[in-house]
Amino acid sequence: MKVDVEQGSGFCFGVENAVAIAENALKEGETVYCLGEIVHNDLEVARLTALGMVTITHDEFEKLRDGKVLIRAHGEPPSTYLKAAENNITIIDATCPIVHSMQEKIKKVADLAREEKGQIVIFGKEGHAEVIGLMGAAGPRGILVTGKGDLGRIDYTRPVFLFSQTTKSKVQYEVVAEIIRLNLEKQSKDHPGNTLKVHNTICRQVSGREPRLREFAQQHDVIIFVSGKKSSNGRMLFEVCLKENPRSHFISSPGELNRDWFRDAASAGVCGATSTPRWLIHEVAEIVEGF
Ligand code: SF4
Repeated sequence: MKVDVEQGSGFCFGVENAVAIAENALKEGETVYCLGEIVHNDLEVARLTALGMVTITHDEFEKLRDGKVLIRAHGEPPSTYLKAAENNITIIDATCPIVHSMQEKIKKVADLAREEKGQIVIFGKEGHAEVIGLMGAAGPRGILVTGKGDLGRIDYTRPVFLFSQTTKSKVQYEVVAEIIRLNLEKQSKDHPGNTLKVHNTICRQVSGREPRLREFAQQHDVIIFVSGKKSSNGRMLFEVCLKENPRSHFISSPGELNRDWFRDAASAGVCGATSTPRWLIHEVAEIVEGF
C-alpha cells in the first residue's frame, strides 16, 4: 500500500512560533507556566511538560504570584495582562502575530465605533481561548455569534463590524455575513447609518488547507486524520476529508489505528490539523506503511 503524508499538514506558523518560544524559555531552567494547553494536542503537551513546562488553568493563574507565564498562540484578553501586572508575573507572550494584530484592530474599531453605537460582532466558538481574547478586546460592544441561531442578538438598526475567529470555515463566515447584510438592508430605509463592515480575519494558514485537503482526500483510498480531540480546527478539517472520502478516520494517537480500515486499499493518506505536530503525523505514516 502506498502511504503519503500531506505536505501542508502540521503546526501552523502561529503554533510553531509559540512552541519555539516555549522551548527557548525552558532552556533557562526556570519553571515556565503555560496558561492553558499550549496546543490542543496531548502528545505535544506531554513532550513540553517533560522539558519542564507546567500547564495551569485560569483559576490557578488568578492565585499565582511571581513567576513566568507563557501566553499561547490563541492570545488572552486585556484582563489577563492586568492580573499579571498586579501579581508580579512576567508574561512570555507567544500570541500568534496574526491574532495579536486582530485584537489590536478590534480595540481600534471598538473605540471608533463608540460614537455611532456600532457593534463588534465576533463569529466564533463559545469558550474558545482565541474568542475569549477577541471578546475581551471588543469590550462591552462585543457580541458573540456562534452560528445562524445567534443572529437575533444583533441590533440591525445600528452599524455592524464583523470579525471571525481565525480558524472558522470561510464558507460559514460568508453565509453569516450575508444574512447580517440582508437583515441590515431591511432596516436601512429608517436607519441609513446601519452599515456592515466585514473584516477578512480567517487565517490563510487554515483556509488554504481546506482545498488542498479536499484534493488529497479524493486522491487516496483511506485517509487518516491525526488531531487532538479538543482542536476545533481539527474537527473542521476532518469534516472536509470525510465529505470527500467516507473512508476517513480521525485519530489522536498511533494506538487508535485499526488494520481493518486498510483492507483492499491501494493507497492511504495521512494528514492533520494546524495543532498536530509533524513528528506525530510521520510516526503514524510509518506505522501505516508497516500494515
Ligand atoms: S491558525 Fe493562523 S491565526 Fe491561528 S495560530 Fe495558526 S497562524 Fe495564527
